[in-house]
Amino acid sequence: MVKARAVTARIIDGKTVAQRIESEVAATIAGLSWKPGLVAVRVGNDPASEIYVRNKAKKARELGLEGTERVFPETMSEADLLAEIDRLNRDDSVDGILVQRPLPPHIDLVKVTDAIEPAKDVDGFHPVNVGMLHLGRPTLAPCTPAGVIHLLESANATIAGAHAVVVGRSDIVGKPMAALLLQRNATVTICHSKTVDLGSITSQADILVAAIGRPMFITAEMIKPEAIVIDVGMNRVGPGFAGEIAHDPDKSRLLEKNGSVLLGDVDYARAKAIASWITPVPGGVGPMTIAMLMKNTVDAARRRRGQ
Ligand code: NAP
Repeated sequence: MVKARAVTARIIDGKTVAQRIESEVAATIAGLSWKPGLVAVRVGNDPASEIYVRNKAKKARELGLEGTERVFPETMSEADLLAEIDRLNRDDSVDGILVQRPLPPHIDLVKVTDAIEPAKDVDGFHPVNVGMLHLGRPTLAPCTPAGVIHLLESANATIAGAHAVVVGRSDIVGKPMAALLLQRNATVTICHSKTVDLGSITSQADILVAAIGRPMFITAEMIKPEAIVIDVGMNRVGPGFAGEIAHDPDKSRLLEKNGSVLLGDVDYARAKAIASWITPVPGGVGPMTIAMLMKNTVDAARRRRGQ
């Protein structure tokens, strides 16, 4: 049974935190005598990737970076993509390279990830950067979990000594999230699809990070009273989900109006009554990812150029 609380959770506003980071990035760039360059590579026509890549390049230009989109057809061979990455690695005007996922099935994502020069790997996915992260050394950390750390800091969360439970162990979110929390002296538990009795673990979390990819999977009963809840999930659902969100008037209204609605991995409407702080979806973790990409690009540029 969930303990009743008189107040609802405070909202961690990712848009505001992201804007602050972007302003800092813009100010740093304004102080440089050169423009750091970010190249976003897209292969194929995945509609979501099209929007992500366009937004990343646009945001880069807004902040004063040289933001370029390189778009290639679905039929591009793996060898040609590797050759393009090699060219970007050797181009001194390029400080950050990202290759948007997913790639077409005939291209080996591991080979592509490994081909990017670690110093320009602004996604933080190259094994060298992953290793550095796990060793606790300065590196380019993956953007989404790095953004979560900023969100926790914005809520004045005490990370050291807290029990942080990360649900999800992907290479791009769950594992680096756990590493970043461990670096900050949290006691970290990583859960995944084979975890037994998940709720008994999540309900011990002072900090709960959900990175699963299942709408409203984390219910109020799985949350410790006063926990800080970070919802990384982004799940678009259609009219078939109307029953599940009937208790959430805001999401129900959006579903009715638009025919679909974006949900996190957490049952936000009910979790709000349990948690002390919580991120909404959208407007929580999402805006941080792009802000951290910009920060990583400037950091990579300054490091590479010795400034
Ligand atoms: P992913 O690669 O599919 O990983 C999902 C993880 O969740 C896996 O580790 C999986 O366990 C675990 N999982 C699945 N079902 C589970 C269950 N029943 N109980 C416990 N754990 C379970 O996904 P991802 O790339 O990490 O992304 C996760 C979510 O975050 C997605 O909704 C994605 O859209 C979102 N996302 C958002 C942003 C952003 O900017 N806001 C960025 C990246 C991702 P196994 O390892 O055992 O399979």
